[in-house]
Amino acid sequence: MRTQRQVVDYSLQKRAVLRELVAGHVGTYDVCDASPYLKNAARFHGEPTDRRCPICRSENLTLVHYIYGDELKQSAGQARTLAELPVLAMTLREFQVFVVEVCLGCDWNHLVEQYLLGRDGLTGDGDGAAEQQDATGTAGAGRRRREAQR
Ligand SMILES: [Zn+2]
Repeated sequence: MRTQRQVVDYSLQKRAVLRELVAGHVGTYDVCDASPYLKNAARFHGEPTDRRCPICRSENLTLVHYIYGDELKQSAGQARTLAELPVLAMTLREFQVFVVEVCLGCDWNHLVEQYLLGRDGLTGDGDGAAEQQDATGTAGAGRRRREAQR
């Protein structure tokens, strides 16, 4: 996505959890604990993938995109479909997206990545430059007026 920035990738953490699982330091009940809310979000707003669940290997993973940010008001913390994100990104200045992978078969879930979206990420800040020019122009005019009064 065009305005995507400050991407944080959690695949290392995920691999660490899976290693712990293989080593027997944690049980599947510790990592396969998707809440009913998360599973509903996956069913209704999730993005299906063709990647197999690393735990049960019988279901494909679903990605859920949660959005957070002051501008979202009551929508903050809600799940959105992937298709809705570019629309929001053009309307809002900045919001945070958390991507969680979920297995609807065994309830495995893990944070995949987080990033910022929104118009603030668009390059070529023409408005800012124009404002700066105006400010200097006004300051210059004021100085000239004061000089003229002396
Ligand atoms: Zn699974």
